[in-house]
Amino acid sequence: MAKSTPNFYESVQNNFDKAAALTTIPKGLLDQIKVCNAVYQMRFPVRIGNQYKVVEAYRVQHSHHRLPTKGGIRYSIHVNQEEVMALASLMSYKCALVDVPFGGAKGGVKISPRKYTQDQLERITRRYTTELVRKNFIGPGIDVPAPDYGTSSKEMTWILDTYVAFRNGEIDAAGCVTGKPVTQNGIRGRTEATGRGVFYGLRELLNNKKEMEALGLEPGMAGKTMVIQGLGNVGSYTGTISQDEGDVKIIAVSEYEGAIYSEKGIDIQKLIKFRKETGSIVGFPGTKKMAKREDALELECDILVPAALENVIHKGNAKKIKAKIIGEAANGPVTSSAEEILLKKGIIVVPDMYLNAGGVTVSYFEWLKNLSHMRFGRMEKRFNSQTYLNLVDQFERMTGKSVSEKEKSILTRGADEIDLVRSGLEETMVNAFQQIREIKARKKRCEDYRSAAFVNALTKIASDYMNMGVFP
Ligand code: NAD
Repeated sequence: MAKSTPNFYESVQNNFDKAAALTTIPKGLLDQIKVCNAVYQMRFPVRIGNQYKVVEAYRVQHSHHRLPTKGGIRYSIHVNQEEVMALASLMSYKCALVDVPFGGAKGGVKISPRKYTQDQLERITRRYTTELVRKNFIGPGIDVPAPDYGTSSKEMTWILDTYVAFRNGEIDAAGCVTGKPVTQNGIRGRTEATGRGVFYGLRELLNNKKEMEALGLEPGMAGKTMVIQGLGNVGSYTGTISQDEGDVKIIAVSEYEGAIYSEKGIDIQKLIKFRKETGSIVGFPGTKKMAKREDALELECDILVPAALENVIHKGNAKKIKAKIIGEAANGPVTSSAEEILLKKGIIVVPDMYLNAGGVTVSYFEWLKNLSHMRFGRMEKRFNSQTYLNLVDQFERMTGKSVSEKEKSILTRGADEIDLVRSGLEETMVNAFQQIREIKARKKRCEDYRSAAFVNALTKIASDYMNMGVFP
C-alpha cells in the first residue's frame, strides 16, 4: 500500500513496485534496475560580485545497462538529491520505453536562475561542467546532459565549450551534450521536441475510440478543451502545436505570476508574445484572472497538462480535479497517492515517462548527428527529389495529363532535417503508445497507462541485463 504523502522519489518507487508485481522479472534483477548506480553530490565556489557563493549540485546516473547515460540538467532552488534521483530513474524507463539506447541520468543545480545575471549563470554552468569533467561524469560515450527546467540551449553551449576546452581534439566532443543551438552542433526541432511529443501522445489517446467512449468523449482532438500549467519550453510548445495542428481550445493557463481563464479560448502564440512584452500572463486581453494559480488545475476540461514541476496534483487536491485526461508533460506532476484517487474517478493519466519522451528522442537524433558529423537529409534530399520528379514526368507522359507547378513542388520535395526529425519523433511516439496500449489491454490487473509503460520499460531493461549475462 502506498504511503499517504510520498515525495517525488517515493512516488517513482511506489509506481515501480506496483508495476514490478505485474512482471515475472526476478527480484534481484528488479532491485538492480530500481537503484541509482552512481550519485555525485558536489559543492563548488562561484564568485558573485565581490563575494563567494557555495553552490550545491548533483549528477545522478541511474542505470548503466546502456551507455552513455542521458538526462537533462535542472536549475531550481528546490533541487535536492532525491529529486535528481527520481528524475534520473524516470530517464532510464523513458529511454527504454521509446527505444532510445541510453541509460538514465539527471543533473541538478540548486539555484534560482532568475536571481543571477547571464555572466553569473555562465560562470556557474562552466564550473559545474568542470566538476563533471574532473570526475569523468560527462562525455559522448559516458553521460550526455540536455536542457530541463530552468535551462535552455544557452547553458548547453557553455557546457559544450567548457568540455571542448578540456578535451581538445576529441573528434566526437559535440556529442557530449544535446539541446544545443542549431548553429552550435544542435539539431532542428529539438527545442519544440518535448511539446511536440506531448501533442503526438495525446493525439494517439484521443483518436482511440474505445478509450474516448469510456470517457464520454468523441474521438479526435479537434474542439477539446485544454488547461496548461507552466508556459515554459514544454508548456508553450504543447500549447501552440495542440492549438495549430490539433485544433484544441486552450481555456486556461497557469504560470508563476498567476492563472488566466477564457471560455472562448486563449491564443497561445499571442499570449507568449504578451508575456514577453509585459513580463506576465495576467491581464491578457479577453481573459479573467483566477484567484490562485493552482485553481486552474481544478477547472472542468477535457485535457489537463501540468508542464511545470512535480507533485502539483497530490492527495490534497486530487478529489477536486475535474479533467477527463491528465497529460503529464512535466516529470512527476501526479503523486502516487493522488493517482489512486484519480484512477478511481475514471480519469486517464498519460504518464510522464511516455508523454514527455519527445525531448530525449530528438536528443538521441542530435547525438547521432554529432557522431556522424553530418546534417540529416544532406546526402539524399536532392537525389530523392530528382527521383520523384522523374516519376511525375513519367506519369505526365503516360497519361497525357499535366501536374501543376504547385503540386509538382509538393510531390517532388526531398526531406529536410526538420522533416526527418518530426517524422522520427512521430513514429516513436505512435509506436510507444501502441506498445503500452497493447500491454494495458492484454495484461490482467494492468489497468492504467503508467503501470503498462513501466511493465514495458522494465521488461526491456531486464532483457538487456540478461543478455549481458549478469543475470543468467
Ligand atoms: P521551463 O523552465 O522552460 O518552464 C517551466 C515553467 O513553469 C516556467 O515558465 C515556470 O515559471 C513555470 N512554473 C513554475 N512553477 C509553477 C507553478 N507552481 N504554477 C505554474 N507555473 C509554474 O521548464 P521546461 O523545460 O518546460 O520543463 C517543465 C517540466 O517538463 C519539468 O518537469 C521538466 O523536467 C519536464 N521536461 C522537460 C523537458 C525538456 O526538454 N525541456 C523534457 C522532458 C521533461
